[in-house]
Amino acid sequence: MKTKEKTKNLTKVIDNFLRLIFPPDIKCIFCGCDINHFYDRPFCDKCAKTLSFNIGNRCRICDEPIENEAIICDNCQKRKHYFKHAYCPFVYKDKVRESLLSYKMDNKRYLSLAYSIMITKYIGEDIKNFDVITFVPMTRKREKERSFNQSKLLAEEIGKIVKLPVVECLKKNYDTKEQKELNYKERLTNLDNKFSVINSEKIEGKKILLVDDIITTCATVDACAKLLSKHASEISVCAVARNKLHKNIIDRI
Ligand SMILES: [Zn+2]
Ligand SMILES: [Zn+2]
Repeated sequence: MKTKEKTKNLTKVIDNFLRLIFPPDIKCIFCGCDINHFYDRPFCDKCAKTLSFNIGNRCRICDEPIENEAIICDNCQKRKHYFKHAYCPFVYKDKVRESLLSYKMDNKRYLSLAYSIMITKYIGEDIKNFDVITFVPMTRKREKERSFNQSKLLAEEIGKIVKLPVVECLKKNYDTKEQKELNYKERLTNLDNKFSVINSEKIEGKKILLVDDIITTCATVDACAKLLSKHASEISVCAVARNKLHKNIIDRI
């Protein structure tokens, strides 16, 4: 067995062992204190007071927080999206940001259940509008390096909660320069041809919920939704958190 494969298996064993001793579904995901309402709210009341819930006025399309009374944000007024709605229960900052960074970098895959509970609660009754769930893919190389695709894990947990099939229908062909290192225009062009559709017969005419972990410029989900729209009848997207676009990025469009 290759060393990488061994490490991956060992990580899984350790993860399962830790879950046995410290069941993740009785602890607040932010401070680790005991709670008895995990499947309703996977965090304690004290943390709840400090969390960046996405509950203020926000864009009807991309779910970005808006500081004035506008219905559609500046960005969505300028640019067409290939998805109908975005659903993001949190704003990407403070404890939520720390938690998501830890989810990816420290391999805390058990957090996907808590995040998925929050996403499905936020989507609410609208979940009836979807036929299948899919996710933003990683290249095989990147997935091996990280040992898991954070968006795929979320999609699988959401699928279990709402009892919808999860279909792998996108492939990432090669790695792009990390999106966060790029400006807005570069982010949009950086993704051209990086994705392709697989298993298209499984999504023909279907209404799709596309899962990502964080949405910032919408460039990634738009690139995926554009491809999916050639087969699916409708696409909406969801993520754990909405990263607010800074005004200087919008001005550079
Ligand atoms: Zn807490
Ligand atoms: Zn918007």
